[in-house]
Amino acid sequence: MSQKVRVRFAPSPTGPLHIGGVRTALFNYLFAKKHGGDFVLRIEDTDQNRYVEGAEDYIIQSLDWCGMPFDEGPGKNEKFGPYRQSERKHLYRQYADDLIASGNAYYAFDTAEQLDAERKGHEAEGKTFIYNWHNREKGRLVNSLTLSPEETKAKIEAGDDYVIRFKSPQDETLHLKDIIRGNIKIDTNILDDKVLFKSDGMPTYHLANIVDDHLMEITHVIRGEEWLPSLALHQLLYNAFGWKAPEFAHLPLILKPTGKGKLSKRDGDKMGFPVFPLEYNAADGSVSRGYKEDGYFPEAVVNFLAFLGWNPGTEQEIFSLEQLISDFDLEKVHKAGARFDPDKTKWFNHHYMQQQLDLDLATQFKAIQPELAEMDVNYIALVVGLIKERATFVSDFWNLSHFFFTTPTSFDEKASKKALKEGTADILNKVIALVNATEDFTVENLQTEIKGWITTNEIGFGKVMMPLRLALVGALQGPDVFDIMFMIGKAETVKRIENLVHTL
Ligand code: GLU
Repeated sequence: MSQKVRVRFAPSPTGPLHIGGVRTALFNYLFAKKHGGDFVLRIEDTDQNRYVEGAEDYIIQSLDWCGMPFDEGPGKNEKFGPYRQSERKHLYRQYADDLIASGNAYYAFDTAEQLDAERKGHEAEGKTFIYNWHNREKGRLVNSLTLSPEETKAKIEAGDDYVIRFKSPQDETLHLKDIIRGNIKIDTNILDDKVLFKSDGMPTYHLANIVDDHLMEITHVIRGEEWLPSLALHQLLYNAFGWKAPEFAHLPLILKPTGKGKLSKRDGDKMGFPVFPLEYNAADGSVSRGYKEDGYFPEAVVNFLAFLGWNPGTEQEIFSLEQLISDFDLEKVHKAGARFDPDKTKWFNHHYMQQQLDLDLATQFKAIQPELAEMDVNYIALVVGLIKERATFVSDFWNLSHFFFTTPTSFDEKASKKALKEGTADILNKVIALVNATEDFTVENLQTEIKGWITTNEIGFGKVMMPLRLALVGALQGPDVFDIMFMIGKAETVKRIENLVHTL
């Protein structure tokens, strides 16, 4: 590749960025970084009816949270700016006019009612109405291909509404290339004459997208499979302008966890997982869950997303962003849809949790747990080190560790039945004496003292360790009993055992 690689992520700011959009951004980012190229953000806001306030900020924050900030875009390195299509509005008309002048586009004056009548008429005959070579010059449709130049001019001057349509060629075979899908052959007769420029003075997606990709010197277009049907038109537009087209790669669909059908925004609510990177507060007051707020680490989300349509061809599953950059290969992306597996994201999160510093996790834990407000963060970090292996989220920590911070106020009923037997009170009183007598209160010494005593007296471990755990935790759960004793200290240990003895 001699030319500098330049890719763009081109979302429309119509709401929160779906996780599939984040995957598209990620693959663009990985490809750009792998080839020392630029990752451009372009906001495609030509459809003003669907514009949503705040969506652009949401997109940028999502990219930042994932650790893949754009190199160039709104407000940043504006070499090819502006990067919002609404601010480039003045640019597009000229290109539509050029296409008219070269015979590749035409004015169409058909009203919505006329087109609707055509559609219904076709339907009545069991046919589909397509505006193209079939009918564009047959007289029923009103466009500059059938009107004389004078008539066309008169209509425009009279202020009649019109659109500019692309004139799809007849009887040609197009040879398209996609990095993921290989060679694709298209018969141009099946194409419709897409609108390039609307009556509201705005370009459509198709025109703006091609003009911008060209002006912004984009070398590779990496986008979702839903745009594959537009590829033929896009290639024809490049040909009509006489521009070199970028290379294309259409990423596979993301499928529901069942493997059937496309993952939709509603699937998340139905099955209890987020489909957005960040929480989203819509104008109507509704709130959509986000991976971040649900306690996922960005590393886990990125690692998970990378495997939606790509894999390295080895057994390796854990990939940092840096490793992804070095190993990612667009040619290895699959054509087949990728099944979304929310449990796998949790598996990744568990993994990345273990990689985090205990002190960082402790800070996050303290921030969400009111009971920890006054607690020393270094102590919390020691606790985290003991329990994080069994946690997937920081929000799991409290259930796994509350007894390190608060004295149990009740004892689990089932556990009590199992742990408390005749003679338990005597045993626990003896343990209190042993604990009190342990001068150097370390895990090792406690273990030696208590285990030694059990062995010498042939009591049976369960008879001691179960009630002891019940006293300390309030249930038969938690990490090593001696770790707990050491952490809460001698006085608290004794107090808790006494509490249980008093109930016997
Ligand atoms: N604005 C389009 C979208 O929202 C961009 C498609 C493309 O990348 O060409 O998906």
